[in-house]
Formats: sequence, structure tokens, C-alpha cells
Amino acid sequence: MAGECIFCKIAAGEVPAEKIYEDDSLIAFLDISPISPGHTLIIPKRHYSRLDECPEEVIGDLASKLGLIAGAVAQAGDYAGYNIFCNTGRAAGQVVDHVHFHIVGRHPGDKVFDRWPSGRYEEGRMEEMAGKIRKTLSGP
Ligand SMILES: [Zn+2]
Repeated sequence: MAGECIFCKIAAGEVPAEKIYEDDSLIAFLDISPISPGHTLIIPKRHYSRLDECPEEVIGDLASKLGLIAGAVAQAGDYAGYNIFCNTGRAAGQVVDHVHFHIVGRHPGDKVFDRWPSGRYEEGRMEEMAGKIRKTLSGP
């Protein structure tokens, strides 16, 4: 619900936020519960719950500023690197149902994302998954 959405209220200036960037279509501000100092959220000003519900031009606007803003966060925090991610759905840790990208500055050995449970496909499973995804995308 856009009317109750905290990020819509931030975008409208009705709720204060530590803004670091704003243009016609998006706003970037610091997360109040940072993983690391400078942890930034970039949101479209219009309300969309999920990334896959966002029009391409909105995603394009957001994506076009990720590098610029991430570079500034990295420089401000003297970070050696950063992660950019978009949690979508409760299963993925999305808490606010308004599309947002996180930018998190990283230092070597900070153990922020220590767990990366990569695995291996069983025989034929990778091709099966690729086929399903291609079908949805109407790809090759
Ligand atoms: Zn919203």
C-alpha cells in the first residue's frame, strides 16, 4: 500500500531521511540500521513493491546511478569494495515493500556476508532450470 509506505513518505519529504542524492525519478538516503557506515538505499520515487513489477525505464534510472553512488559511498568510507543488492520478497529479506537497492561498503575480512552457500547441480537440473527461465523470458 503506497499510502502507508515509509519509503513513499521519505520520497515525498513527509518523513526525514539522510538524503545523499535525488533527481526526478529516484532518491538515495542512508539506511538507519547500517550494515556498515554509509549503507545506502536507492529507491524510485514512485511506489513499486517488487523489482519485477518495475517498468524498465524505472529500473534503468535506478541502475544508471548505482555506480556513481556506490563509488561515492566507497570513497567516503574508504572501503575496498561494496555489495549492491535488491532483496525481493520476505524469503529474500525484503522488509519494506517498496523496491530498493542496498549499497554496502566492505572492508577485507569484515565477515559481513560470510555465508555463500553455493552448490552443484544434479545431472540435467541446470538445463531444466535454464529452459524454464528461457520459456518465461521467451528467450532462445
Ligand atoms: Zn512506497
